Amino acid sequence: MKREAAIVGAGYAGLACAVELARQGVEVTVFERSRTLGGRARVVHKDGWTVDNGQHLLLGAYSELTRLLRLTGVSPRWLERLPLTLHVPGQLHLRAAALPAPAHLAVGLARAHGLGWRERFALFALLRYLKRRRFQLPATTSVIDLLTACRQPAKLRNLVWEPLCLAALNTPAPEASAQVFANVLRDTLAASAAASELLIPRVDLSELFPVPAARYLATRDGRIFTRNAIAAIAPNGAGFRLDGDPGEHSWPHVVIAAAPHHAAPLLASTGACPALASQIAALSSEPIATIYLALGVGVRLPAPMIGLASGPAQWAFDRGRCGGPEGLIAAVISACREADVRDHDALIVAVLAQLERELGCRLPRTQWAQVIVEKRAAFACRPGLSRPSVVTPLPGLWLAGDYVDSNYPATLEAAVRTGVECARRIVADMAR
Ligand SMILES: Cc1cc2nc3c(=O)[nH]c(=O)nc-3n(C[C@H](O)[C@H](O)[C@H](O)COP(=O)(O)OP(=O)(O)OC[C@H]3O[C@@H](n4cnc5c(N)ncnc54)[C@H](O)[C@@H]3O)c2cc1C
Repeated sequence: MKREAAIVGAGYAGLACAVELARQGVEVTVFERSRTLGGRARVVHKDGWTVDNGQHLLLGAYSELTRLLRLTGVSPRWLERLPLTLHVPGQLHLRAAALPAPAHLAVGLARAHGLGWRERFALFALLRYLKRRRFQLPATTSVIDLLTACRQPAKLRNLVWEPLCLAALNTPAPEASAQVFANVLRDTLAASAAASELLIPRVDLSELFPVPAARYLATRDGRIFTRNAIAAIAPNGAGFRLDGDPGEHSWPHVVIAAAPHHAAPLLASTGACPALASQIAALSSEPIATIYLALGVGVRLPAPMIGLASGPAQWAFDRGRCGGPEGLIAAVISACREADVRDHDALIVAVLAQLERELGCRLPRTQWAQVIVEKRAAFACRPGLSRPSVVTPLPGLWLAGDYVDSNYPATLEAAVRTGVECARRIVADMAR
């Protein structure tokens, strides 16, 4: 059998799978419905401005993504690396020290502004609680249950845990899975100083990985067809035919690397995976809104990324300090309610007023502003959620994507890990 595979979807999961397969000498063909590579992490061109569909933050713990960035020749300079820093103007400043773990956090906490000794000890107590349990919690525990069990003071909840939970899991703490939150803490705060670093892309999200991945594939007989949706997958004994494949080929291996709402109908179209298709269709999702404000030269935030204590936005990023135009701010609202982000003009005014209030200064009039709401940004990461594995009931048909079981919430790293996992299984299958 020829060593070849088809991948449906050129988001981070599909391209990670394609790069890993190509690295191992498999001929890959990727079909992507959109004209832009990157899926939910892609560049957007609007009114002469280049932004992303949503501001993203990567973590030092993203080991598979950073490995693939190196493999595809991405310069380390394309990521702004910062020590773990939580800066909420006038309320909190916590910055990990440049020391090995756990001293980086201990010294950072000792030097922190805005937390009393009670909060500092409580933060360590929560990490100790998780360590004692080897970061294993009952599946039904929510993040709020965890904070209550560890007697976390209100200030620590409001300034640290709840914003971190919302940022990492895109799910509010009362509804979020404590187990997945614990996995993130295990690999960041409780791991090395490097693992807890914040990595902010200095280039757009298509340029960061999808474009270098496409170049890598081009040098290894890989092909990417953009504006080429696959409408259905038909098993045909020896493999699969794809409705929409211009080559009308029979593929021995097909990876569905689409978001849940696209993956479920593709799986259902095979006629052989109704239960799995229903399981994926039942996953609910949470939106994320990003509000871009171009405020002009001379406007700088006190840090590349700041936390915001009131609403509507939870975080603001200074794009000017991360490779973007000076004065371009990206404010983020995770798990926003649709009604709150429907009126874009009102939202822009509200976020500008919020920034002025929290920074304690007047800001210039916006030169340009744009609201981008991704309605299905991430699956709601609830306690006890059953996530599918990369394997389907049909041999040769695989699943990759941030919703596939990976221990991580819906993130670039989760997407990439499942893509790489599919590639490894396909190669192992081919070797049999
Ligand atoms: C606004 C926003 C902010 C985020 N912030 C962060 C963050 O700070 N840190 C972080 O790590 N993660 C963040 N995420 C999550 C991260 O972007 C996603 O987890 C990741 O991009 C998912 O990748 P994926 O490959 O699994 O899916 P997708 O990116 O959805 O890729 C699927 C691809 O498949 C294509 N496709 C679908 N159906 C078909 C078909 N039938 N035929 C052909 N192609 C098809 C789609 O067009 C798409 O390109 C954020 C997401 C959003 C939206």
